[in-house]
Amino acid sequence: MSNKKPTAKLVYRHAFDQYKARLKETAEILKLTPEEVTNFETPEKILEKKLKVTLGGAAVELPAYRVQFSSARGPYKGGIRFHPAADLDEVKALAAMMAIKCAVVDIPMGGGKGGVTFDPKQATKEEIFEVSRAWARAFANDIGPDKDIPAPDVYTNGEIMSVMLDEYEKVTGGKAPATFTGKPVSNGGIEGRDTATAMGGVFVLEAYVAEKGWVPSDLRVAVHGFGNAGATAAQLLYERGYKIVGLADSKGAVMSMRGLDPMKFQEVKNQNKSIKEMYCHGSVCDEGMMEKDSVVVGDPNSVLTMDADILIPAALDGVITPDVARQMKAKVVLELANGPTLAEADAILEERKIDVIPDVLANAGGVTVSYFEWDQNLKGTTHTREDVNARLKKVMSKAWMGVSEFAKKHSVTFRKAAFALAVERIRMAKK
Ligand code: GLU
Repeated sequence: MSNKKPTAKLVYRHAFDQYKARLKETAEILKLTPEEVTNFETPEKILEKKLKVTLGGAAVELPAYRVQFSSARGPYKGGIRFHPAADLDEVKALAAMMAIKCAVVDIPMGGGKGGVTFDPKQATKEEIFEVSRAWARAFANDIGPDKDIPAPDVYTNGEIMSVMLDEYEKVTGGKAPATFTGKPVSNGGIEGRDTATAMGGVFVLEAYVAEKGWVPSDLRVAVHGFGNAGATAAQLLYERGYKIVGLADSKGAVMSMRGLDPMKFQEVKNQNKSIKEMYCHGSVCDEGMMEKDSVVVGDPNSVLTMDADILIPAALDGVITPDVARQMKAKVVLELANGPTLAEADAILEERKIDVIPDVLANAGGVTVSYFEWDQNLKGTTHTREDVNARLKKVMSKAWMGVSEFAKKHSVTFRKAAFALAVERIRMAKK
């Protein structure tokens, strides 16, 4: 095996309890009956398989999942993650959140999620592809363009979707590109899917900032996570005049009140290095260079409580704990990751009047453009990046307006408003 890197651990294990906590709040707002609550807590189908693969020369069986939570508004939709901490509880929670997310942005999709309990960072590319093919074979009868449409999620990507699609088409015999989204553009993917999650979040943030009457150049942004969503968001905001004061990946953080240029850190990242290696090699840092750039280097979580106006958690779930919520200096949190804020921390942020633009709205740009891709594959059309971004902006702006108006009308947080709107839409669809 090659490419051995340590894998960051997910912070909280009881993801489904987090979902249930949010649902309970929604039930109070919408006055749901106990039967309705049970219904929203129960997935339509839980599929569990064992993938027989060879890793590091040894035959192993990896637990694999697909949870088909709700098809009330359309076929199940949602990513597949490869992660050593992925388990049924987590996949179930993420599947439920996908149903909510699709309803918040009002696309005709339901909610699903898949996973394999497996650490791709300890595996070779060939092994990762073998796991991908095994997943597609195991679930081939359960997915399809009008049934359930997977996409990338944590540690999976477009290349993996291509491999899965190839295996799926071999098993089912025939072309069906609309079975998977997030594919490379060269293989039926859509322009703009690569930047969609960040772009969607930026559109919502811009609407929020405009409503507040704030000016981008006055706003300092800290980004936790430098994967696709975090790095793209930092770049898009930098181009729009926001001041990026903190960046962090899984190994470290770089902070500067003078501002950082995300592109420079992308170059370091492209060499498979941590962003802090711009200034440090191991524990030895170039003090002179740091002083020249007014930069401080710290551990990844230091950006969560640093002096900034906007905090963007874009990596792991559960990073905003009650402690972090108490120490946070940002005025607004844009959740690009799924589930970055613990339910217990929500109450503290609410009390401290720190706004949270919740994951089910802030990162819904990804699945929205997945929906465009699915539609494009079914119709055999293609769209330009400009076209996709313009359509995305319309969807995100409309979703923001709905959430913002509901929050004002009912004096509730954006998260509660988003959940309530979504649950109401799903409830109507069920009727
Ligand atoms: N995995 C992404 C999410 O959590 C995208 C899902 C999709 O495109 O279906 O929203």
